Amino acid sequence: MPIIIPEEVSLPRHPSRDRARVRSFRCVHCGLDVPADAPGTAHRNHCPTCLWSRHLDDTPGDRAADCGSSMTPIAVHVRHNGEWALVHHCTGCGALDANRIAGDDNPLALMRIAVAPLARPPFPLDWFARL
Ligand SMILES: [Zn+2]
Ligand SMILES: [Zn+2]
Repeated sequence: MPIIIPEEVSLPRHPSRDRARVRSFRCVHCGLDVPADAPGTAHRNHCPTCLWSRHLDDTPGDRAADCGSSMTPIAVHVRHNGEWALVHHCTGCGALDANRIAGDDNPLALMRIAVAPLARPPFPLDWFARL
């Protein structure tokens, strides 16, 4: 049976650079199918479950980066207005990037990253008793 594609359906010629038309993406880390629309941000760039991302942008939403490697979430940054941003580290080229969190990001995963330095201090905690 022939497959009929309606004429009004146009496939992007450069899928990796035309993600604005993509309604969802598959997480490079956990495999979750993630809707492209996210509450609280115009450019969802990471998985709301595991918080991993892909190195696709030079500036948020431009899809101009040629790297394409996976990016691991390594820290939370608090901006001057109190907004949280996730700091991602590219596993391919080593780039660092900070991006707004989304309203549906996993709060436990965010908190695990935020408190990681407190859970592994660079000195014994009993030093506080000497202060
Ligand atoms: Zn994921
Ligand atoms: Zn990269």
